[in-house]
Amino acid sequence: MINELNKVMEQAYEAYLSYRHVSGKVKKVFLNTIADEIEALGDVLLETASKETNLPVVRFTGERARTCGQLRDFGRLVDEGSWVEAVVDTRIEDRKPAPKPDMRKMAVPVGPVLVFGASNFPLAYATAGGDTASALAAGCPVVVKGHPAHPETSRLVAGAISSAVSKCKLHPFVFQHVEGTSFEIGKILTQHPLTAGVGFTGSLSGGRAIYDYAAGREVPIPVFAEMGSTNPVILLKDALMHRAPEVARQFAGSITMGVGQFCTNPGIMLGIKSSVLNHFTSLLALELSMLPAYKMLHKGIHQNYMEGLDKVLYDKGVETIYHAHATGSLVASPVLARVHADTFLKNPDLHHEIFGPFSLIVVCNNKQQLIEVWESLKGQLTTTLIATAHDLELHADLMDIATTVAGRIVFNAVPTGVEVSNATVHGGPYPATTDQRFTSVGMDAVKRWVRPICYQDCPDELLPEELKNSNPLGILRKVNGEFTRTAIG
Ligand code: NAP
Repeated sequence: MINELNKVMEQAYEAYLSYRHVSGKVKKVFLNTIADEIEALGDVLLETASKETNLPVVRFTGERARTCGQLRDFGRLVDEGSWVEAVVDTRIEDRKPAPKPDMRKMAVPVGPVLVFGASNFPLAYATAGGDTASALAAGCPVVVKGHPAHPETSRLVAGAISSAVSKCKLHPFVFQHVEGTSFEIGKILTQHPLTAGVGFTGSLSGGRAIYDYAAGREVPIPVFAEMGSTNPVILLKDALMHRAPEVARQFAGSITMGVGQFCTNPGIMLGIKSSVLNHFTSLLALELSMLPAYKMLHKGIHQNYMEGLDKVLYDKGVETIYHAHATGSLVASPVLARVHADTFLKNPDLHHEIFGPFSLIVVCNNKQQLIEVWESLKGQLTTTLIATAHDLELHADLMDIATTVAGRIVFNAVPTGVEVSNATVHGGPYPATTDQRFTSVGMDAVKRWVRPICYQDCPDELLPEELKNSNPLGILRKVNGEFTRTAIG
């Protein structure tokens, strides 16, 4: 196995030597071709993904559109070119006591990237998902460790990418797909000296293990692991008084969406003890009772869900408000539970993500205790405020806590359904991710796979196109402190 994996990384590095110089225009054609090839797989892909994950075909119509959409978005980004953040400070000959040299910098690709495909998004966060699309856009060859829960789906998508590689006449090892179920594979690939960065979506234990493998290398490399969160929702009183039925309906949908197998699932909801909070809790239970129970992705995830529920629901002080008690292999019952903040604060087991259609309402005595509970939760991908304008005026101080806790703050909507945009942050303080400075969704995801390089007094003819005086690509650059597309001199 070691020899085979060694060969994979050597081939990826060989591809890097040419792929890093491929222009934005060619990369755009390549990323568009991958999207076209994925679409050309037609219903076979959707049906295979559905069969391997127990999720309905319609879910994959949407996920395929998202996957192809983000590939094309990254194509547009690198074709336009300004994403390299070129900065030029021209020479000042008469600066005293010494002339100021000509300094120019831009982002360059780091090298071969290893991607661990996620089990819960077989298309959008797996083989041709956001990690792969952003790394290929940056100019990094990709090695995907396919998730064993959907091998045939991974193979189909890997075939589509390889076909795009050959249609675009790129180096044949710009993309490689590795299969297998041993943790050794991930460990060897992460620790291989030619691996330059890692993208991961999955469990805290898996992400942390991979982060530790990378940190233990002779030359450590960055690991961008997205490991989930409980996505605390803050329920404020005026909003519950005016909109409880609508909020309960929205959140019942969000808690059960994709059988709760979303990293942005609202797993903890905080409110202040009141009759409106009680009313909302009953409404949410009623809404959940009207939704069917479905099968989870695979045996391991189902087992983790059942064990997580056992731990929480049999805990002293935790009250089960709704439990569907559905039966059948891999079927996950939606569950709503409630606990008082005093109990919650004393029991860290209640703070952990339960991956599945579950949410825990934490009842606080007052605002001070709500803040204490909110701050006791570790780093989060999202936090949500359900609040009227009046609530927000009264509790403006909550904004500072929200920004400390999470990477994305949602107002009066559900946290599930992550938009792919230029401003998206799908990240957050540890343990939501291993590097809170970056995002794994949205156009800025490309920044994980580059490093800045500075050229000092470099002759114009040797500079990359992005930094040449004439600005042949017409990109937006910061020249002597001003953003401009104008040529220099
Ligand atoms: P996982 O167990 O973390 O596995 C994800 C990938 O990482 C797999 O390819 C796995 O390898 C690899 N891996 C895990 N631990 C490793 C280790 N110690 N060394 C090397 N490689 C390792 O995630 P999963 O299978 O998707 O689901 C398990 C649990 O993860 C779920 O129950 C849920 O709690 C959580 N999860 C969270 C999210 C989220 O977005 N928050 C998403 C998915 C899952 P193998 O292929 O060899 O198994």
